[in-house]
Amino acid sequence: MARVLVVGGGIAGDTLALLLGRAGWQVTVAEIAPDLRTGGQTVDLRGDSREVLARLGLLDEVLGRLVPQRGAAWIDRAGRPLATMPVEAFDGNGYVSKEELLREDLSRVLHEAAGPTVTHRFGETVDELTDTAHGVLARFRNAPAEEFDLVVGADGAHSRVRRLRFGPETSFRRPLGLAHAWFTLTETPSTPPLDGWFLTHNAPGRRSVEARPGHPGSQEVGLTFAATELPARRDRAARFALLDEVFADVGWRTAEFLAAARTAPDFALDTYDQIHLPRWHDGRVVLLGDSAWCASPLSGLGTALALRGAAELADALTSAATAGHPDHPAHPSDAFAAFEAALRPRTRAAQRLFPGRVRQAAPVTERGIRVNALLIRGLQSGPLRRTVGRLAARHGTDPASDHAQRQASRPSSGAGTRSASQASTRTRP
Ligand SMILES: Cc1cc2nc3c(=O)[nH]c(=O)nc-3n(C[C@H](O)[C@H](O)[C@H](O)COP(=O)(O)OP(=O)(O)OC[C@H]3O[C@@H](n4cnc5c(N)ncnc54)[C@H](O)[C@@H]3O)c2cc1C
Repeated sequence: MARVLVVGGGIAGDTLALLLGRAGWQVTVAEIAPDLRTGGQTVDLRGDSREVLARLGLLDEVLGRLVPQRGAAWIDRAGRPLATMPVEAFDGNGYVSKEELLREDLSRVLHEAAGPTVTHRFGETVDELTDTAHGVLARFRNAPAEEFDLVVGADGAHSRVRRLRFGPETSFRRPLGLAHAWFTLTETPSTPPLDGWFLTHNAPGRRSVEARPGHPGSQEVGLTFAATELPARRDRAARFALLDEVFADVGWRTAEFLAAARTAPDFALDTYDQIHLPRWHDGRVVLLGDSAWCASPLSGLGTALALRGAAELADALTSAATAGHPDHPAHPSDAFAAFEAALRPRTRAAQRLFPGRVRQAAPVTERGIRVNALLIRGLQSGPLRRTVGRLAARHGTDPASDHAQRQASRPSSGAGTRSASQASTRTRP
């Protein structure tokens, strides 16, 4: 029985822990948050996410937690629609899917499924990782040091394991030029209802304000703006002052959102970055999820890649363990290399964002906003509809995969008949 330390109990870390725990491995998850992380917006269940969750036997469970959605609408400063895209657009491959649930609900389902097969240590992290003759000695922040056969860094885009083992974040981070604040707003009797619509108001100067359906009685709010660096995480006052300054003259419900952000328990603010590493493993340490390949929330593929990556890594580790001789167990680096070879094409494809995606998320001028709305309307009805549908269905697939090529050359299929291998699950910001 191998002893594995997974640092980070997010989507990638908990999925891997669940799979290895079920395979009989001794798994410890060190999660820095004091409890299961809440917050985050909706993630959809198309493509890889659906396939991996079905394999885990959790698909029905997550389908029971869907957030009812009707589509996306782009609105002006008075809340009047400029363009809409219902969930049915592009045969179900459009911006918003019928099958989406909140990230925190997915996280909870995975966490609860792991149950007692996995040891979770909340409020914990590693300060040092030292190679030993047959493993890695992890120095914990709050517990005595312990030796593991292998260590997985699933601690997100700002990974500590990556910093300890591979180098500083600046060596791997590629900012996309935007930042995003998100939080849950609790509705009051005077809160305007969303009626299942994900509303976006773009303002000139690369600013965007969004509200989308959440749990009953709440809305998920996002504020996007141009920035590559932010005030320090602990300096909340500076962070709110920055938002106030950037969004001061933006219309629609922006003033209400700026006020609500201050009291939201799950308020978060981060830049949109990608992480590019030449290699995801070093000795007995491997990176998984955003820590290794963050494609940014703008890719819409963060959750799908986290789930798929965890499944690939679990498969590679369990087959290496079965192949090894009990007296001479296989070195995990072979399994890490197999995992990396299997997943690289997918992460590379996901990091190639849909053309114009960054600009579309936050147009620069009023004219750009109008053109964006025209495009959204035109693409759904004009001659390019079918081509765009195919591109959307292929987005994030492994370009080298025969399957992806075959799918691309077929007319778009209905949402209900889409192949799970299309790998187009999206987690939009
Ligand atoms: C609270 C939250 C909300 C999110 N909301 C969205 C969203 O709305 N839209 C979107 O596209 N993406 C969102 N993401 C990112 C999205 O979850 C990931 O892109 C994707 O699921 C990949 O998962 P991951 O497990 O690699 O990373 P994450 O889901 O980021 O999980 C990383 C985990 O590691 C933990 N961690 C971080 N540092 C340490 C440390 N030093 N030691 C131990 N543990 C550590 C974190 O607390 C977290 O639980 C969110 C992430 C979080 C944590």
